[in-house]
Formats: sequence, structure tokens, C-alpha cells
Amino acid sequence: MKPANFSYIRAGSIEEAVEIMSRSDGEARFLSGGQSLIPALNFRLGGPSLLIDLNSIPGLSGIRMEGAAIIIGALTRHTELGHHPLISTHLPLLTEAVQHVAHPAIRNRGTFGGSLALADPSAELPACVLALRAVVKVVGPGGQRVIAADDFFVGGYTTALAPDELLTEVHIPLPNLSARHGFAELTRRRGDYAMVGLALMTGPQQRVVWFGLADRPLRDQAAEDALSGGPRAAAAAALSGSEVWGDLHASAATKTHLARVMIRRLLERIT
Ligand SMILES: Cc1cc2nc3c(=O)[nH]c(=O)nc-3n(C[C@H](O)[C@H](O)[C@H](O)COP(=O)(O)OP(=O)(O)OC[C@H]3O[C@@H](n4cnc5c(N)ncnc54)[C@H](O)[C@@H]3O)c2cc1C
Repeated sequence: MKPANFSYIRAGSIEEAVEIMSRSDGEARFLSGGQSLIPALNFRLGGPSLLIDLNSIPGLSGIRMEGAAIIIGALTRHTELGHHPLISTHLPLLTEAVQHVAHPAIRNRGTFGGSLALADPSAELPACVLALRAVVKVVGPGGQRVIAADDFFVGGYTTALAPDELLTEVHIPLPNLSARHGFAELTRRRGDYAMVGLALMTGPQQRVVWFGLADRPLRDQAAEDALSGGPRAAAAAALSGSEVWGDLHASAATKTHLARVMIRRLLERIT
């Protein structure tokens, strides 16, 4: 299908993009990689009358280190994330996870910020930023604010971003040197969204985060508390106290079973 008619503006700065958005009365959408927005328009799932293209805004993409944090610009493509030495050295969870995002053609255009703003509950990167204790920086008509990843994903395809706020960059603190990462994903075909997925960090600030199991990435404190008991203990505790959702792929009970097998095998591999 073809999309309904819409207008298009290429923003030259963050301020310009935000200003145009705030004047649009909710009728506009930001366009980053377009890998989800454009298919949605083609299927006529929602019809913004204006697209504000972010791709020419200087400084919105790129990866750098500042003090004890890695900063990832919203417009950074998945491909750059997957090949960047700062990421593979300090945040190998992201290097591993991004290889599971779709296929090379989509990773060449899709962006880090677009993926977080979209907040697909089965996507890899939202779960990773939660596991890595990231902080999201956003700019709106009232200025700038920061949102902890813990507070950013509020429901299915829903974030704490106001409609006229632009996600500009993500700050990820360097993990403790003793920390290890783990990533696993079950899909029907390579490149699909996850049926069950897991991103975790061990060490003093351990975190266990599932994706594909609920309406948002799901932090699993029961599994975190049991990590010190080893893979079997973590598997036994995993998801107790969490509400798992069934979907077209599998029931909640099947997903819970798959998840427990997944965390046991992953911990046996990395510890
Ligand atoms: C066939 C196919 C398979 C895919 N498989 C996967 C997969 O397995 N895992 C996965 O994670 N993803 C997958 N994707 C999605 C892809 O990875 C993109 O990352 C994702 O679509 C969003 O990034 P984007 O830059 O394309 O965002 P866009 O499509 O440009 O935007 C998505 C939404 O976010 C908003 N937005 C974008 N940037 C910002 C910003 N900076 N601030 C505020 N709002 C913003 C837009 O207005 C829009 O509502 C797949 C896509 C396709 C087409």
C-alpha cells in the first residue's frame, strides 16, 4: 500500500525540530531511520500529516566517552553501534545484541534513538539500556530533561517522552570492571523480533531484563536476587512475581518455561 498524503520538513537543528513539532498540534512525527515509521504509514496505521526529518541535524549521531560514561547520539545507526570500538570495549552487551536486530539493510538505516522511542516490547535495545542503567536525554519546548531508563518504558510502544519531546542522546555509565554481560534470544527466524529475549549484567550492579514477555522490557528482581546461587537458582526464581504475557507465538506458561531454560543456559555459559 501507499501512505496517505503528508508534508515533509527537514529540520536543521534540534531546536527547529522541537519548535515545528510543538506547533503541529500532535499532527507530526519525527523521522529517524524510518524503518518502523514508514512501514506503519504504508499500512496506514496512524496518519501524521507532517514528518519532521531528523537526519540532517548536526551532532545528533555518534558515540563518545565522557568521564565514566558512554554517550550514544539518538541518530546513531545500528550498524555503527555494532562496529564501534568504544562499544565493543566497554559495552559488549550492545555489540552482541544489535546483531540480532533485523537484517543488515535495516541496521544500516535504523537508529538507536528510534528504537528506544518506538519501544517495541520485543526489541533488543530497550532491554539492553535497562540492563545497563542508562539515562535518556530529551529536549522539548520547555528545555532539556533526563529520564532514567527504568522510568522511560511505560507500556506497549509507550514511553515517558511527551509527544513534542525529542530524544537526543543516551548516557550509559561504564559497567564495573568485574561485570560480565549475557545476551540470548529465541526467534522463529534469524532477524525476527524476540519470542523470548534476555539481557543481563552480573557483578555488583547486576541486572536481569527480559524482552518479548510483557508490554515493555521487564526487569526481574527475583532472578537478580538469586544470581549468587548459580544458574539453577536463578532459573528457579526467574519471573516469580512478574506477569508474563502470552501472544501469537506462545502462551505465558510456555514463554515462562523457555525463559527459565534460557537464563540457566546463559549463566552456565558466561559464569
Ligand atoms: C523487517 C523489519 C524487521 C525489524 N526487526 C527488528 C528487530 O528484530 N529488533 C528491533 O529492535 N527492531 C527491528 N526493526 C525495527 C528497526 O530496528 C528500527 O530500529 C526501528 O524501526 C526504529 O528505528 P528508526 O530509526 O527506524 O525509527 P523511525 O521508524 O524513524 O521512528 C520510529 C518511531 O520513533 C519516533 N522517533 C524516532 N526517532 C526519535 C527521536 N530521536 N525522538 C523521539 N521520537 C523519535 C518516530 O516518530 C516514530 O514514532 C525491524 C524493522 C523492520 C522493517
